[in-house]
Order: sequence, then C-alpha cells, then structure tokens
Amino acid sequence: MSPDNKDNHKTYIIIPGSKMGVVSPELLKTIAGVVEKHDIPQLKLTEAQRLALIGYAPEKIDNIWQDLGNSGSPQKKAGAHYIKACPGKAWCKYGIQDALALGDKLEKTLLEIPLSFNAKVKVGISGCPLNCCESFVRDLGIFGKKNGWTLVFGGNAARKPRIGDVIAEDMSAEQVLELAIKVLNYYSANTVNHERTARFMERTGLEKLRSALAK
Ligand code: SF4
Repeated sequence: MSPDNKDNHKTYIIIPGSKMGVVSPELLKTIAGVVEKHDIPQLKLTEAQRLALIGYAPEKIDNIWQDLGNSGSPQKKAGAHYIKACPGKAWCKYGIQDALALGDKLEKTLLEIPLSFNAKVKVGISGCPLNCCESFVRDLGIFGKKNGWTLVFGGNAARKPRIGDVIAEDMSAEQVLELAIKVLNYYSANTVNHERTARFMERTGLEKLRSALAK
C-alpha cells in the first residue's frame, strides 16, 4: 500500500533493538501494535537485518518513537553504521566461529569508544568462509575459519564495487576486535570529506595502512 502524501515517502524510523537481525516476540508485538495504532503504511526488513517503519506523517514521529518504548526523539542520522552478522556456529551447520557473539561484542566496544565517521561504515560478520554476510564487500568485514577470524577492510558493494583487503587472519575474538578498532581509528583520523572506506583504501593504499597498524 502506498501513502497518498508524497512527503510521507521520505519518513522512516529504523527500529532500535533488532541487533544483527535477532528479534524477540516482545519486540515484534510492540512493533505490530505501533504499526496498527499509527496506521503506518509500510513495515520493511532492511538490507541491514533491521526493521523500518516507513511512510508515516512527519508530525507523528515523537509519538511513534515513544510508543516503541524510547524517550526523546530519534536521531536524525540513525544507523550511521550497522553490524550485520549471520547465525554462525551457534545456529548454522556450516558455522565455524560464533558470528553473533562477535557482533555483539563489537557493537558494545564501538558504543564504549565513540568513533566518529563522516560516511557510513557497514560491518558484516560471517561465521565461515561462505560469507553469507558478504564480509568482502563491507567497509569492515570479518569471517571465521578453522584457525580463527579474518579481518577485511575497504569493501563496498554499491555503485563502484570494491573487494576489501585482507588485513590479518587467524585471530582470536579479542585480537580481531582490537584490530578492528585500530583500523577504524586510523580511517576515522585520516579520511577526508565523506569518503567511504573503499575510496579511502584506493587513495591511501594497503601498505600505508599496514605500516600505521604496525606502529
Ligand atoms: S556464513 Fe557460514 S556460518 Fe554464516 S550463515 Fe553462511 S554458511 Fe552459515
């Protein structure tokens, strides 16, 4: 169903709480209630494994936000970065490493260290080399193998696709988290304008990043 008012096409809220695509019955019930109460025309799963309420009248935003169980108003730049993770070894028969647990830890770490980025940083964590979360085409990609985690940086799947560079392999969860923060710190400090990581890597090069990480 499409909204009549074209302005409403541009209104959307990404619902907080569905971390890495994991949802609870309670969250789904709350969302269903809000969608019905406010007659929201579109409820959509996003590419980032989240739920979006789309097409509500702009003046309803604060009420919708509060009915979702939040205080205040949603941030204008909600979802500047997101972490997408596959079921991993906890739930998938091919899983080698625990992608959901690593995604959870990375999200907590990123919240504790508020890094700022001028462009979107998308993270994809896959529990095995089949890479269902497309780790090679995420800004920061991580995937599991028998000997540990591999970290990939600078991938992109958009208008000008780029396969990310493998930065290191065979790491423990702690090591890959530490390296991820180092890489993101370097990117945050050296990026220009709204440069995504793929263009950043094309400009600076892998060797420069490697030598900065070795210091
Ligand atoms: S990447 Fe591997 S572990 Fe994750 S869902 Fe795909 S097959 Fe399963």
